[in-house]
Amino acid sequence: MSYDEMKISKLGEACCGCGACAAKCPKSCISMQEDKFGFLHPVIDAGACLGCHACDSVCPALGGGKCDEALGIRWAKGKSSELLEASSSGGIFGLLAESVIAGGGVVCGAAWADGCRHVEHVLVEDVVSLDRVMRSKYVQSRVGREVYAGVRDAIRSGRRVLFAGTACQVAGLKRYLGKTGGSALLLTVDVICHGVPAPRLWSEWIDYKNVLRDSNVCDVNMRSKTTGWLSYSAMYEYIAEKDPFSSCESTIFNQDWYMKAFLANASLRPSCFMCPAKRSCGSDITLGDFWGFQGIHPEVDYSKGVSAVICNTDKGIAAFQGIANSIDCGDATIEQVLAGNPSLVKSVAPYAKCDEFMTDFASRMGIEGLMAKYDFKSSLKQRVRGKLGAIKRKVLKVAREGIR
Ligand SMILES: Cc1cc2nc3c(=O)[nH]c(=O)nc-3n(C[C@H](O)[C@H](O)[C@H](O)COP(=O)(O)OP(=O)(O)OC[C@H]3O[C@@H](n4cnc5c(N)ncnc54)[C@H](O)[C@@H]3O)c2cc1C
Ligand code: SF4
Ligand code: SF4
Ligand code: SF4
Repeated sequence: MSYDEMKISKLGEACCGCGACAAKCPKSCISMQEDKFGFLHPVIDAGACLGCHACDSVCPALGGGKCDEALGIRWAKGKSSELLEASSSGGIFGLLAESVIAGGGVVCGAAWADGCRHVEHVLVEDVVSLDRVMRSKYVQSRVGREVYAGVRDAIRSGRRVLFAGTACQVAGLKRYLGKTGGSALLLTVDVICHGVPAPRLWSEWIDYKNVLRDSNVCDVNMRSKTTGWLSYSAMYEYIAEKDPFSSCESTIFNQDWYMKAFLANASLRPSCFMCPAKRSCGSDITLGDFWGFQGIHPEVDYSKGVSAVICNTDKGIAAFQGIANSIDCGDATIEQVLAGNPSLVKSVAPYAKCDEFMTDFASRMGIEGLMAKYDFKSSLKQRVRGKLGAIKRKVLKVAREGIR
């Protein structure tokens, strides 16, 4: 069987790196290998290949996903302030995960690995470990063969599973599972996803920070709410070899160079500019930040995060109803969600100098060189809009406190 006969071999930049093909291959002859940016791509051992095309059949980038139907749209946030602090947005994922674990189930989500230098999907089975898979990590996460198999085996053994990830990861998993994917035991959540940055840029960024502080990063919260939900910070926790105490460094999101590159769409995977899975991954629930919420419901305290929750299936509605006692929520419309979050349905456009940036990065310019050349400063128009937004939020906060 020649590699060229496989449809996935012709995907090029359209491959989103979900790993479903490698997990499905009955001969284990597909390995996911890093490109110069750290993005994973399938590489086939043609000599061992059976020519069964199982890899093609599960690939979400080859299309064929049915359009997801929004059966219910809500704004929602957890009642517990601890949960909100521990989550990136309204804490809905954490509550769904707690309820699955309380019923003896398994949760699969993205966790830091290798001293926070990488992100990978892991399975967790107890509430203490749940913290590992909470909060957004803005780096492409690796979903290994063992994770796909772990989800499948847990369902087959009669346990409930909650899988959370980007739309392409959910689409890859559902196709890998086939009929098992339709099981009542599986609950899938996709996050509204505007794209995933290059894993190697992140690992170099962490190496750079480690050298700068003569310490090692031991935890990162890319959405720390110590400065609020709308004006979140990137929080790095360090531990030095000879110092038993950790220290923290917090940078507001629009001053953290890595976050600026991410938000400018400079460091994203090429497939994210032509996303194959938006609103067609087959998830039960889609979760995102409810950006713009403060203008819709100024009377609600949004300071620690509010989520947009889109239930796409009856199973999703039932799971959301199951956490009703732990949340504040209300009706919303798709127009309200889209106003602050067009990437729910539309792929983002790349940063104007995206190719140049990625070429410089791949040519080992190093973080310092990249920082000197690309500062991702916002334009005057964006800065004025940001200032006006901050003033408006202050006025709304005063008005809200007056209402209470
Ligand atoms: C790469 C990325 C881009 C995003 N872009 C947007 C956006 O444009 N607009 C928007 O409204 N929301 C976006 N989100 C989603 C948002 O940040 C929150 O994750 C979401 O609102 C859920 O928040 P929560 O408080 O319910 O749960 P949290 O506790 O914050 O849970 C986050 C969930 O995301 C999963 N996750 C974290 N990192 C990754 C990763 N690297 N890959 C796959 N899954 C991951 C975790 O396993 C967990 O299930 C993005 C998230 C990611 C990971
Ligand atoms: S055709 Fe079958 S054996 Fe060959 S790489 Fe694809 S899944 Fe594996
Ligand atoms: S999109 Fe996923 S299934 Fe398709 S080739 Fe890429 S890694 Fe494999
Ligand atoms: S934008 Fe689309 S292709 Fe990119 S990570 Fe998100 S879901 Fe996958």
